[in-house]
Amino acid sequence: MGSDHRRWGNLRKVLERSGPFCRPDFEPCSENLQFLLENCKLLVIGAGGLGCELLKNLALMGFGQIHVIDMDTIELSNLNRQFLFRHKDIGSYKAEVAARFINSRIAGCNVIPHNCEIQAKDEEFYRQFHMIICGLDSIVARRWINGMLLSLLVYENGELDKNSIIPMIDGGTEGFKGNARVILPGISPCIDCTLDLYPPQVTYPLCTIANTPRLPEHCIEYVKVMQWPKENPFDCAIDGDDPQHINWIYEKSNERAAQFGIQGLTYRLVQGVVKNIIPAVASTNAVIAAICATEAFKLASSCSASLNNYMVLNNLDGVYTYTYEAERKEDCLACSQVPIVIEIKDPKYKLQDLIELLCNRPDLQMKNPGLTANVNGKNKTLYMQTVSSIEKRTRENLSKSLIDLGLRDGSEINVADVTTPNTMVVKLKLPQDDQEML
Ligand SMILES: [Zn+2]
Repeated sequence: MGSDHRRWGNLRKVLERSGPFCRPDFEPCSENLQFLLENCKLLVIGAGGLGCELLKNLALMGFGQIHVIDMDTIELSNLNRQFLFRHKDIGSYKAEVAARFINSRIAGCNVIPHNCEIQAKDEEFYRQFHMIICGLDSIVARRWINGMLLSLLVYENGELDKNSIIPMIDGGTEGFKGNARVILPGISPCIDCTLDLYPPQVTYPLCTIANTPRLPEHCIEYVKVMQWPKENPFDCAIDGDDPQHINWIYEKSNERAAQFGIQGLTYRLVQGVVKNIIPAVASTNAVIAAICATEAFKLASSCSASLNNYMVLNNLDGVYTYTYEAERKEDCLACSQVPIVIEIKDPKYKLQDLIELLCNRPDLQMKNPGLTANVNGKNKTLYMQTVSSIEKRTRENLSKSLIDLGLRDGSEINVADVTTPNTMVVKLKLPQDDQEML
């Protein structure tokens, strides 16, 4: 007891004394620390550069009940900054090794690993946590967990039940820049509200890559995602640093570009498209993870007001940080519960055009949307790429116009996409006059 008392001495100073920054609901007492050590259940998503820092910080800040989820295994190139891993761990699951390391090093801390993708877990799993802290490098994964937390909200007579809110603390880094934000789903702006802050997407809709390439990038992507896995020329995954691999992709993309009359494909462009790696800087991860862990501590203990609600860090030229209050988007597809209305003026507008719009619009940025609609009282799958038998059957719809597919002004299309666990509704505004002419 004596050594335990000393061990958390610094935390006790914050948790057992009042101060000018405490939230009104803060009550200084020893139960605050007990809650962190024994009851407060956290989920850390990602056990990579940010994740290692987060786990270490949270465990040292007294959080004793932590789950971590990551599907990746450890690679040699991770070891310079993902400091919970050693050379002998290469090939093992990140979540598992990270949990073992923390548990063996920090007495009393119980980290439970989940070696899978976040989509493999259901609502019941996510509902058990008090808070979710993300150290992800994927926007799709961020949007998916954002959608999951929004779907857990309970509304009674239009009023949000505050007990159903699971706060999400999101950290992100790219080179020397980073950001941290605190999201209270249903109250503060969600990931999709501020989607247009993310850099323009560098992936292309698969239907375009496969069927109607227009850019040299489309040809390179085609070889990368379709031809390589099929032909498997070197019996291994693509290595962007292997000139033989790049050369193979260069030659095959050139063939495809020639076939479609596309100009401008160079070896350098192939390298750029294939490598597409976000550089990782250990110090940026350390700063962002420290902020996220502090925000988790503040939320769990009420010892101080939370970050409101978006902080940016730029270490490129000196050290610069800035905090501002991002705003909710009134018609946010994820959190507003308002169906999105898409107006189409051209009566010949094709299904493929609509899919490309869903993928390219900065506020939507879908990846491979599957579309169903109610046409003349029947549920009809317009296009679905994720199931190959359905893809084959619905491919011919891509070149049909929306009107030929039986859609009318006011028709609602249900859209499923990897960016969210929920189905979204898109309402069409189509030209009335042309429709009558047809
Ligand atoms: Zn939103």
